[in-house]
Amino acid sequence: MALKTIEDVDVRGRRVLMRVDFNVPLDPDGVVIDDFRIRAALPSIRSVLSRGGRLVLISHLGRPKGTGYEQAFSLAPVAAVLSELLADLLPEGVVFPGNDCIDEAASAATGSLEDGRVVLLENLRFHAGETAGDTVFAEQLAGHGDLYCNNAFGTSHRPHASMYGVPLAMKPNPCVAGSLVAEEVAFMGDALEHPTRPFVAITGGAKVSDKLTALRNLIGKVDTLLVGGAMAYTFMKALGQGVGSSLVEDDRLDDAREIIRLVDGSATDLVLPVDHVCGRELSDQSPVLVADQEIPDGWMGLDIGPASTARFTSVVREAGTVVWNGPLGAFETRPFDVGTRQVAVALAASTEAGGLTVVGGGDTASAVELAGVSGRMSHVSTGGGASLKLLEGASLVGLEALDRA
Ligand code: AMP
Repeated sequence: MALKTIEDVDVRGRRVLMRVDFNVPLDPDGVVIDDFRIRAALPSIRSVLSRGGRLVLISHLGRPKGTGYEQAFSLAPVAAVLSELLADLLPEGVVFPGNDCIDEAASAATGSLEDGRVVLLENLRFHAGETAGDTVFAEQLAGHGDLYCNNAFGTSHRPHASMYGVPLAMKPNPCVAGSLVAEEVAFMGDALEHPTRPFVAITGGAKVSDKLTALRNLIGKVDTLLVGGAMAYTFMKALGQGVGSSLVEDDRLDDAREIIRLVDGSATDLVLPVDHVCGRELSDQSPVLVADQEIPDGWMGLDIGPASTARFTSVVREAGTVVWNGPLGAFETRPFDVGTRQVAVALAASTEAGGLTVVGGGDTASAVELAGVSGRMSHVSTGGGASLKLLEGASLVGLEALDRA
């Protein structure tokens, strides 16, 4: 699915209403702790400014109540950081009209915007209409721009007003993708639609229920499906194996059996862990036991074991294409991080051997970062939920409303 991008449109003298994801972490004093998401949006922002466009930026931050301004969720600290990052192009800084994204001050700021200048509007989620996908709110937002750009991949699976209603309201004016969105879709699209074989998917994480649709979609498409993390224990229990006190979703045992049946009738190999690093509890103080297939009572599986890690890493090293969503153990707590780290390093080796490696966002992106190899992947997604949707084979509602190339 090739999307039209912001590079494809003439922006000179036009107001580009760009949905960005400036949902950054703030410390208790309201200082931005990590500006990664702001920097990630810069290529498209700079592209518009350097071509004489006028930029109106809209974003959410956190989960305010939706009943009006709350200082703790204000985008004011983001405006300050963005002004610093753009100081070379924009010495006068970013205009931040304050308190509300659709009040008179906001309209005055976007209405009088000059070429090459930037307005950042206040948090969209101060209005309940944003998450409710309210069409009247969407039309009010649409009034701030002459064309629309979605540069917020991480929220593209949500039918929120700024993601779906705004582009609908702005048509037939151009509604295009920013570089962040275009890149995400290109990498994941390439991996899923034109994989170089062997094609390997790795799934992990806490819950099998979150990943069932993705698993069903991947069966028959991938050559090997590696399953680790707590979700593996639901499969093991479904197969009648001992799981001790590991995290299991008992209401998903039938689903796990159905997945196993689907795999049996397909060309996909399902690989479950054959050994486990177990603790008495999830704590770095816990005694540790390496268990073979059966996990004894009183122990919980918290990471894939050494034999499983060896098997997973050798499959990954041989792969032509790897997609990964979900850590293989409770990687935030040592020593249960080892399996996930080693598989991350194997992905890096696979990339360097010419493979395509695509890592889902959220926890998997953090795990790869912790392992120190995120720069050695073909692509690390900025959106957990949105990239999982793509693995499910679903379309993203926020992309449906954009123009095709
Ligand atoms: P998810 O959001 O479903 O991808 O789950 C990610 C979370 O799963 C991380 O916080 C991991 O610590 C957790 N996790 C992965 N494997 C295990 C496990 N064996 N036991 C408990 N938690 C796990």
